[in-house]
Amino acid sequence: MKKEFPEDMVPLENKEFRFSCHSGLQCYTLCCKNVDMYLFPYDILRLKNAVGLDSETFLRKHTHMVKGVNPYFPSLMLKLTDGQNACPFLLSDGCSVYEDRPSSCRTYPLERAVDRDAPRKTRKDYYFLTDHPYCLGHGENCSFTVNEWARNQKIHIFNLMNDLWAELDSIFLMNPWQGEGSGGPKQQLSFMACYNIDGFRKYTQSNDIFGHFRLARELKKEMERNDTELLKFGFEWLKFVLTGKSNLVKK
Ligand code: SF4
Ligand code: SF4
Repeated sequence: MKKEFPEDMVPLENKEFRFSCHSGLQCYTLCCKNVDMYLFPYDILRLKNAVGLDSETFLRKHTHMVKGVNPYFPSLMLKLTDGQNACPFLLSDGCSVYEDRPSSCRTYPLERAVDRDAPRKTRKDYYFLTDHPYCLGHGENCSFTVNEWARNQKIHIFNLMNDLWAELDSIFLMNPWQGEGSGGPKQQLSFMACYNIDGFRKYTQSNDIFGHFRLARELKKEMERNDTELLKFGFEWLKFVLTGKSNLVKK
C-alpha cells in the first residue's frame, strides 16, 4: 500500500535536489546556533571519542536529559553554550568534530523517516527536503540524489545504528520497567548500555556478561576494543534482559 504523507511533505525518492554548504556562504555556521538537537546513542559514542572524553564526562558536560516522544525512556539533547547559544563544537572556522558530527547534522538538508512493518520484517526509508529560509545552500549549483548525498556525507553507519536503536526504543515504548517504574535498576542499566558505553564496558567486564552467551572469540575481542560493536551487543543484550527475545544465544 502506498504510504500517505501530509500534503506539504513530499518524499524525494530518486529526484535530485540542489544543495551545497561551504564557508563562502553568508549563512555559514548559522545552523549550528539556536539548534534543538537530539543525540542518539551512536551520535554520543562518536562525539565523545572525537573530543576525547569518557562517556560520563561527555554526558555531564554536553547533554541534558529531556522527556522526548517516548514517555518511558528519557531522550538526550545537545547542551548549547551559554550566551552564544551555539553548538559547543563550533569553532570560528566551522565544525571541530566534522568527521564525527551527529546524524542530524550530516543528514541535513534532508530529514529521514522510516516506515517499518515489524511482522513482515520490511522497512522503507523516505527522505524529505527541508527548506529553512536562512539556509543559502539550496541556491548553490550542485545537485545530488538521496543516495549520492548519503554516500557523500557517510550517513549509512549512522542510519544502521539508529535503526538498531529505534528497535530497542520501541521496546522501551511498551514500558518494560513495569513495577520498577522509571529510574529503577533496569532503566538505569538500559540508560548505561545505550548512552554510557565506557560504563557499560566496565559493567560487562566486572559481571562477565560475554561469558553468559555463545559468542565467537573474534567478536568478543572486537567488542573489547571497538565501542560500535559493543553498542550493538548492548542493544541485543537489553532486548534479552527486557523481553527474553534476542539474537543472543545463552550458554
Ligand atoms: S548552507 Fe545551510 S547548512 Fe550550510 S552553513 Fe548555511 S545554513 Fe548551515
Ligand atoms: S556538530 Fe558540527 S555541524 Fe553539528 S551543530 Fe555542532 S558544529 Fe554544527
